[in-house]
Amino acid sequence: MNAFVLADPSRCIGCRACEIACVDAHMDSDMGTAMERGLTFSPRLSVVRESGVTAPIQCRQCEDAPCAAVCPSGAITFNGRSVVIDAEQCFGCKACLAACSVGAMQVGIINGERNVPVAHKCDLCAGHREQPACVSVCPAGALRVFSSESLQQLTASRRRENARRVAFEHN
Ligand code: SF4
Ligand code: SF4
Repeated sequence: MNAFVLADPSRCIGCRACEIACVDAHMDSDMGTAMERGLTFSPRLSVVRESGVTAPIQCRQCEDAPCAAVCPSGAITFNGRSVVIDAEQCFGCKACLAACSVGAMQVGIINGERNVPVAHKCDLCAGHREQPACVSVCPAGALRVFSSESLQQLTASRRRENARRVAFEHN
């Protein structure tokens, strides 16, 4: 099962530190001079504010990724850790953006890469950081990496809780 980053909306305070950390992690040079150099701010996760709730939305690294299936250029593949986009192969047709039901895909200019719109999304900071930068920086502890193991532990504990609830309901 592919690992992915997921936010807990009950903890998120909407500070957008995760977005800044994401941009910084994917930038080749100093973020402090980004504005002077005319670079765009293109995080690979988006903090959404809706009905009094804030939470970042990011890629779930789908097992059979719809974005990869519809990509006409084969720019989206699974690298053994995450679903990744080869910016050189992307020509910005937005088919992946339309296919992603999570709303995790974006098409636009990415800092430090080609100066034409390309698809971009969370890559778990593969090749950039040991652990996703957003998870490391969140002051509220709202972001967590769900690995295959942690998902199995979570479902096992939910099954146990449910079994206890069913047992008590029938006693
Ligand atoms: S961008 Fe969307 S469809 Fe593609 S892997 Fe991520 S969540 Fe799945
Ligand atoms: S925008 Fe790029 S990555 Fe997305 S479907 Fe088109 S070519 Fe593929």
